[in-house]
Amino acid sequence: MYASVRLIGPRECMGFSDFQFVPRPGRDARRFPARREMYCYLKDFCAAFRLAGAVRLNTKVVHVAMASSPEARAGDVKWKVRSVRVELDGGEEVDVEEVFDAVVVFNGHYSQPRLPSIKDPPGNQIHGERHVTATGGVEASIQPRRHLHPPVDRLCSDGTVAFADDVVVAADTVIYCTGYTYSIPFLDTAGLVTVDVDHVGPLYEHTFPPSLAPSLSFVGVPMGVFAPWFFEAQARWIALVLTGKAALPPETEMMTAVEEGRRAMEIAGAPAKHTHFIPAGVKPREVWEFVYRHSDLPRMEDWKVELFTTSNLKNAMEDREAYRDRDDDSESVREGGRRWRRVAGAQYEAALAAAGRGGDHAHAHHDDAGVAAVRNMQPLLPAPCQFSTLNGATPQKI
Ligand SMILES: Cc1cc2nc3c(=O)[nH]c(=O)nc-3n(C[C@H](O)[C@H](O)[C@H](O)COP(=O)(O)OP(=O)(O)OC[C@H]3O[C@@H](n4cnc5c(N)ncnc54)[C@H](O)[C@@H]3O)c2cc1C
Repeated sequence: MYASVRLIGPRECMGFSDFQFVPRPGRDARRFPARREMYCYLKDFCAAFRLAGAVRLNTKVVHVAMASSPEARAGDVKWKVRSVRVELDGGEEVDVEEVFDAVVVFNGHYSQPRLPSIKDPPGNQIHGERHVTATGGVEASIQPRRHLHPPVDRLCSDGTVAFADDVVVAADTVIYCTGYTYSIPFLDTAGLVTVDVDHVGPLYEHTFPPSLAPSLSFVGVPMGVFAPWFFEAQARWIALVLTGKAALPPETEMMTAVEEGRRAMEIAGAPAKHTHFIPAGVKPREVWEFVYRHSDLPRMEDWKVELFTTSNLKNAMEDREAYRDRDDDSESVREGGRRWRRVAGAQYEAALAAAGRGGDHAHAHHDDAGVAAVRNMQPLLPAPCQFSTLNGATPQKI
């Protein structure tokens, strides 16, 4: 999580189903809190469900490949996983290789910047990952204050930036707000799954590669959804399938569904980068439908759906700068929120108490967006910003 992050989704809609993201005494109680609050919530979640023993921190997966021959059918495939322990000084220790019946990949896709290929770019360049902005494209800063323009037409080697409205400015710094690329460098599927900047596939419902399902699956590939709520739904679906409580369609049917999705995108003229975009911002119902079709998550209550569509969609469209600090909920959202804080708050405390850890006020520390240093936060891996290597990236067969 970047130092400057302040959440863009309302906390009421984001948390895990059985451990809601309720405000805690002495912490950042805002509906859209900053990163420390998210960090404290995840730590509490781990404590409440005693996950520490099930997770190997500071461990980097360096290679995942089929242990059996690629011809083996999906149900028989086993996976070799090689990992190394990463020391805090960046050093790496001996490899460990283990064999598993199934692998679920969830390595995130917001760390490898997607950069345009520019031969002789002007001035300083920064990717927007550390300078979060609500607008996409390329932002040219010519003065300390911010100037927003229509799309950039070209960056010129004399240090100027030409915008689509024919305005040309001299840029001290260019900040690329051009998003991120998918990257799963450690996964070797003998070419059965392809990863490129815009997509991972073929994936049935963004989760299972038909020819390797269910032994290989992916959580977190979709975009435009709330984390961790949506990813909990994916994880639950995978767990149901792996434990035999739910069945996938036959491989050919899954492939047909993938193909139909691809054709529908083509007909709609949608760009490739929307392959995994589940359009919460366009058709929010599709997000719910996905979750209820595949997982056993309870339906989101009406007041949360209303909150999601107003605070997150309508208000954000109206005023991207200030929507997170509005205080004009409808009466139904207010009432739902009051009940939620009472009931889910009690569940939160009870879960922590049962795990032997009361409300953790040691975290208490209000973190205004991006200004305060966060104590005790060590990234699992070194920050993966590889600025220059991405120019001209080609699709990667894995
Ligand atoms: C600026 C910004 C703001 C956002 N704000 C919101 C918001 O308000 N609300 C919201 O719902 N979503 C938000 N998101 C999106 C949200 O952060 C992501 O959807 C979510 O973090 C994805 O979770 P994940 O577990 O799939 O991936 P990540 O959170 O990226 O976690 C992946 C983990 O895998 C680890 N990893 C990677 N490679 C390896 C390897 N080889 N071996 C071992 N470990 C590895 C990484 O270190 C990382 O810890 C935001 C994203 C960004 C970039």
